[in-house]
Amino acid sequence: MPEHDLVVIGGGPGGYVAAIRAAQLGMNVACVEQEGALGGTCLRIGCIPSKALLEASELYQMAKSHLSEYGIGVAGVTLDLPAMLKRKDGVVSSLTTGIAGLFRKNKITRYTGRGRIVSVGKVAVDGPQPAELTAKKILIATGSYSAPLKGVEVDGNLIGTSTEALSYPDVPQHLIVIGAGVIGLELGCVWARLGAKVTVLEYLNRILPGMDTEIATEAQKILQKQGLDFRLGMRVTSARVVGGRCVVECDGQSPIECDRVLLAVGRLPNTNDLGLENLNIARNQRGFITVDHNSFETSIPGIYAVGDCIPGPMLAHKAEEEGVACAEGLAGKYCHVNYDAIPGVVYTDPEIASVGKTEEQLKDSGIPYKKGVFPFLANGRAKAIGRAEGRVKILAHAETDRVLGVHILGAHAGDLIAEAVAAIEFGASSEDIARTSHAHPTLAEAIKEAAFAVDGRTIHM
Ligand code: FAD
Ligand code: NAD
Repeated sequence: MPEHDLVVIGGGPGGYVAAIRAAQLGMNVACVEQEGALGGTCLRIGCIPSKALLEASELYQMAKSHLSEYGIGVAGVTLDLPAMLKRKDGVVSSLTTGIAGLFRKNKITRYTGRGRIVSVGKVAVDGPQPAELTAKKILIATGSYSAPLKGVEVDGNLIGTSTEALSYPDVPQHLIVIGAGVIGLELGCVWARLGAKVTVLEYLNRILPGMDTEIATEAQKILQKQGLDFRLGMRVTSARVVGGRCVVECDGQSPIECDRVLLAVGRLPNTNDLGLENLNIARNQRGFITVDHNSFETSIPGIYAVGDCIPGPMLAHKAEEEGVACAEGLAGKYCHVNYDAIPGVVYTDPEIASVGKTEEQLKDSGIPYKKGVFPFLANGRAKAIGRAEGRVKILAHAETDRVLGVHILGAHAGDLIAEAVAAIEFGASSEDIARTSHAHPTLAEAIKEAAFAVDGRTIHM
């Protein structure tokens, strides 16, 4: 029976990163992954393929509709969807094989099959090459799957989840997206740019719940102008295929017909059939494994969990932070993740990025704050590149000036937010950002100006 210091179940960003870090720290590590390719949801059917399609569809739209605004004439722009999908698949496979290479480099043993915890210290690998492994420690990093919705009959074809929406063989004439969250907006935008009419049905009266309301409201207006049809306050009761067409029903509304439906109402943890019940590993009401955040140990000593299968934002970089922290904790080092400094980015055009507290959270918790806002309209670089929509908003403590939250709607917001994350991680004040030199002309100057705005002293407005 093979023996390992650590057996990781799941080869996504939480699992593979933990495996690499543990191997670097001298442990004999194995990773059990049920799919042929490593990288998890993120690399295979999540972050990476969606960003490949977002980029390609943005370029297509740019060439088709916007290059003339820059004085560039192009005629005969056409869409080659099979080539676009092939490029996306190529990006995915180059990255997933890259992880396999990193496993070899770090001498991590890979088992292909479904992992199941038999008892503390024992993992069974079910599949064509069954095995039973002994492990000093076990790490569960099994990730998540798309949440179902009562009445919505997902057939993996016309009615599907994000996985199908990453590979539609042709552009739907009319796509209905259920859920105006991150997946709904990103993949809704991809297909809208490629020519589909996209209707987004959202249960709440706003898009992107959890994001700062002021920023989400402005984003909604911009995305609406780009053609996304948002129908808010809609409770979807059913979606099914009738005679080759999809029919979607909402409370109190006439049924809507469309070609395809994308169900995107959140994700749930992969915690079933893992052997957790036998061991009585504690989970919360929604099935997420509960852990001690100072070690990532579950309620059963010797068994740990990280990533989408434990509570917290379901993000690849959050899973990675937890994977590293857990591995370091196992090696006797400091185990810590600062959840106040985990950024969130929605890769629409413009992007929406945030870190720390929203204005609503500060109000609700009675924390006194000051606010500085600076629009990209007054930023020279944004004007020069034709991307003057959106704004930067900084929230700082009213008394200490410590930066508590930063929210950016604008071109490259996902890259710009890194400065704000570092500021929060280092406990910076808005004055620290205001006094930091930012190269001119850059979009990042809008962050400096928003920091000036906290104190009512913007220069360029
Ligand atoms: P996963 O990546 O889900 O990996 C878990 C792995 O465990 C999987 O490979 C699975 O096959 C395997 N597994 C499960 N059970 C078993 C078992 N019993 N035995 C063996 N193997 C098992 N996040 C971002 O930060 N940025 C983005 O831009 C982004 N875009 C996304 C786009 C889409 C369409 C989707 C669906 C998600 C996106 N996410 C994004 C979220 C991100 O993919 C997840 O937060 C991240 O993958 C979680 O990592 P993980 O390691 O916890 O789980
Ligand atoms: P989400 O939680 O972001 O959004 C789900 C949306 O569906 C919410 O707006 C919710 O109000 C709505 N909803 C719920 N029930 C509904 C109903 N019955 N009818 C209509 N609307 C309903 O979930 P998601 O978009 O499915 O994404 C899942 C996870 O994947 C997220 O947690 C996200 O963090 C992650 N993800 C991240 C990125 C990124 O970081 N760029 C991209 C994609 C996915």
